[in-house]
Amino acid sequence: MFRSGTDTNNVQMEDVLCDFCLISWTADKPFMEGHHGSHICGACLSDAFRTTVLFAGDPPYTDMPAIPCTMCIEDRTEPCFDSAKRKAHICRRCVKMAAVTLERDAELGWKRPER
Ligand SMILES: [Zn+2]
Ligand SMILES: [Zn+2]
Repeated sequence: MFRSGTDTNNVQMEDVLCDFCLISWTADKPFMEGHHGSHICGACLSDAFRTTVLFAGDPPYTDMPAIPCTMCIEDRTEPCFDSAKRKAHICRRCVKMAAVTLERDAELGWKRPER
């Protein structure tokens, strides 16, 4: 998401906020972009990875309600991680994709949590 009052024609790094903890993006922070300007920071992605992958059990997830994912804008019937600060959700699929992408960039130094 973007800080309110952001000039959309000239978005600065600090205008970009994590949709989950509202921290602003700086060069030393891993950030992953989703649809419609949504973003998740590395710290939230670690929490989300624990919630949706490490502690979520295995598919199929048959008796879960569909959750609208903020990052891919699809209704997902699978474990999701919710923001504690606002109405934002990230689905397991987006968490896994973001984890792969962030890990690929060695300079960011982000690694998926093991527990
Ligand atoms: Zn965050
Ligand atoms: Zn998603």
